[in-house]
Amino acid sequence: MNRVLVVEDETAILQGLRDNLEFEGYQVFTAADGIAGMELIRKHDPHLIVLDLMLPRLSGYELCRKLRAEGVHTPILMLTARGEEADRVLGLDLGADDYVTKPFSVRELMARVRALLRRSAPGAELPNEIEFGDVRVDFVRYEAFRAGRKVDLTRKEFGLLRLLAAKEGAVVTRDELLEKVWGYDATPTTRTVDNHLAALRAKLEQDAAEPCHLVTVHGVGYKFVR
Ligand code: CA
Repeated sequence: MNRVLVVEDETAILQGLRDNLEFEGYQVFTAADGIAGMELIRKHDPHLIVLDLMLPRLSGYELCRKLRAEGVHTPILMLTARGEEADRVLGLDLGADDYVTKPFSVRELMARVRALLRRSAPGAELPNEIEFGDVRVDFVRYEAFRAGRKVDLTRKEFGLLRLLAAKEGAVVTRDELLEKVWGYDATPTTRTVDNHLAALRAKLEQDAAEPCHLVTVHGVGYKFVR
């Protein structure tokens, strides 16, 4: 069961969110100020945090900044007031993942909660193996074959291909690939992604100059098609 923490000092909103999230089957924790929120994060390690920005004791911004500085990447959905665009931008800069503007529709908020939880749990959807063309890749054993012959891929190449395959047909941005395959702690550039993609193509595509499986989406990223 996914654990969701709601940090909000307006009692009516807090209660409404708790009821709706519980109705959707989440285990819900609530706090009415930033310090209490921080304590609940440490205690329950939620899968998602719904975070009001204007909070007593420790603001949503500070909480967000603190968590990210500590390397905690729990997805954060901000609650912002109408028209406070600068606040939203600051919140996103500090590491929040998404926002809804008050007054928000419960349906929209729930949709965003689901989307954030889906995005943050890629492990659940990563394929264990794929086949395309004359290629077969086993991500569990770290083995790749082309026309029955073994092809050597690096760990990063396996990781890159696996993530792209998990989102077959959909564009994956360079930033997302960097974040998920290399992690936040490394300091590669988006160029690193391009170089590894080129290496993968050389190993797996019939014609690396005209790839049909590892396709470039100009200005955005890459997608895998079978
Ligand atoms: Ca508030």
